[in-house]
Amino acid sequence: MSDKPTMTTSAGAAVPDNQNSITAGPRGPVLMQDYQLVEKLAHQNRERIPERVVHAKGWGAFGTLKITGDITSYTRAKALRPGAETPLILRFSTVAGELGAADAERDVRGFAIKFYTEEGNWDLVGNNTPVFFVRDPLKFPDFIHTQKRHPKTNLRSATAMWDFWSLSPESLHQVTILMSDRGLPVAPMFMNGYGSHTYSFWNDNGERFWVKFHFKTQQGHKFYTNAEAEKVIGQTRESYQEELFGAIERGDYPKWTVQVQIMPEADAEKTSYNPFDLTKVWPHGDYPPIEIGVLELNRNPENYFSEIEQVAFSPSNIVPGIGHSPDKMLQARVFSYADAHRYRLGTHYETLPVNAPRCPVHHYHRDGQMNFYGGIKTGNPDAYYEPNSFDGPVEDKSVQEPPLKVSGDVDRYNHRDGNDDFGQPRALFNLFDEGQKKRLFANIAAAMDGVPAEIIERQCKLFDQVHAEYGAGVRAAIATGKQQKPASVSAAE
Ligand code: NDP
Repeated sequence: MSDKPTMTTSAGAAVPDNQNSITAGPRGPVLMQDYQLVEKLAHQNRERIPERVVHAKGWGAFGTLKITGDITSYTRAKALRPGAETPLILRFSTVAGELGAADAERDVRGFAIKFYTEEGNWDLVGNNTPVFFVRDPLKFPDFIHTQKRHPKTNLRSATAMWDFWSLSPESLHQVTILMSDRGLPVAPMFMNGYGSHTYSFWNDNGERFWVKFHFKTQQGHKFYTNAEAEKVIGQTRESYQEELFGAIERGDYPKWTVQVQIMPEADAEKTSYNPFDLTKVWPHGDYPPIEIGVLELNRNPENYFSEIEQVAFSPSNIVPGIGHSPDKMLQARVFSYADAHRYRLGTHYETLPVNAPRCPVHHYHRDGQMNFYGGIKTGNPDAYYEPNSFDGPVEDKSVQEPPLKVSGDVDRYNHRDGNDDFGQPRALFNLFDEGQKKRLFANIAAAMDGVPAEIIERQCKLFDQVHAEYGAGVRAAIATGKQQKPASVSAAE
């Protein structure tokens, strides 16, 4: 007898033959009775789940967050106490490409972390850039449509992208980062991560502080030029998976220095910029980064589908000591991400092993598809509603967040009124050396290939307002016609 396990149906019955279907005679048709064949084919039909609408292509690994600094005066979160070590999973991704897209494409990268803390899962769902293209969530679906395929041609459309950007000056900051060197990192370990949104901390005294999270690569920044990326994609479409998986297999664990910027609650009324605007950073000179620890990736997933494709992050997952902020984009994502997972993975997506908290979970949600967890573990079946007299789980007032202080009349305020969309892109442009500027101009010119002249000119006028050298540089790069086309952008028209 073999010491290999016996193959079974999904109902556990031993399979006698996995090579030959049941047929009426050796040349005859198969029988419907062959439930093993039917089960196999039916499973194959159901192997794919909907890919994420955004951030479909991803790479991830497990690791730890080690806290070395002391920020207990700002937050009561146990995972952020000095000496705390918290297990985590981190998924990197591109935004626009589909599941099969090439890795080395120019795009913003997702940088999504789930910390399995003893107080519940804390998800920080950020990017490799500190800002974003839009500041009002009402514009998010429109923006994403410009990044996806044209409904008629089924091709990516540079015209749609630049049309939208040139009509949305708040996108200038992110567009500048995207088209700069950092818009095309060599692999996930060679880029920073940012929580991007403003979150809040609250401490044992019920005091609130605004906070931004930064993860600074310890591997250094490495990027591809468009030409280099085209060569890489010609050789492999999976360069990020190869680099990340390979590094961790070798024991070459990537690390990031973790920093926070803290803003006293009352300062939000005083800053010249809106500190809850996702198109803005907080200048380091105003709010210096404080080093609090190290994030390390040190374990590859055992199964890509169950652990990376099914991992579900949501900014709604916070723990006591961490709160949200009035950032409109964050507020929309608090709804939208959990909603996406319920659609994509099902009602009980948080009971999948990769998403399940590592602390006790007690709630009163009931039933629904694939409910194999039961939720209420009181040992008393009568405690299935709340309040009850049967020792069911009860609330804990000690984790009540302090009130979020907001005031103002309810209205649809024009988010572009009184906003300086040019100052921070200018500060960034001024950080670039001559080589970086030259590559920025060339990348933009290449990405504009095939775009109508009036849209190009509208966009260049925005660049002029950032810096005269910026608009002039892009116009000159277009005029030379020597630019190369980036792999991720096709002229759809
Ligand atoms: P600082 O000079 O104090 O900070 C510069 C920041 O910019 C650093 O975090 C640095 O990241 C990052 N940076 C440096 N070179 C580049 C580059 N080529 N592309 C993208 N980022 C780069 O200035 P400020 O805080 O006043 O910010 C100036 C500008 O820097 C901002 O307008 C913004 O565009 C950009 N920036 C600011 C950040 C912030 O949180 N304040 C964060 C990231 C970018 P690193 O240390 O990893 O090199």
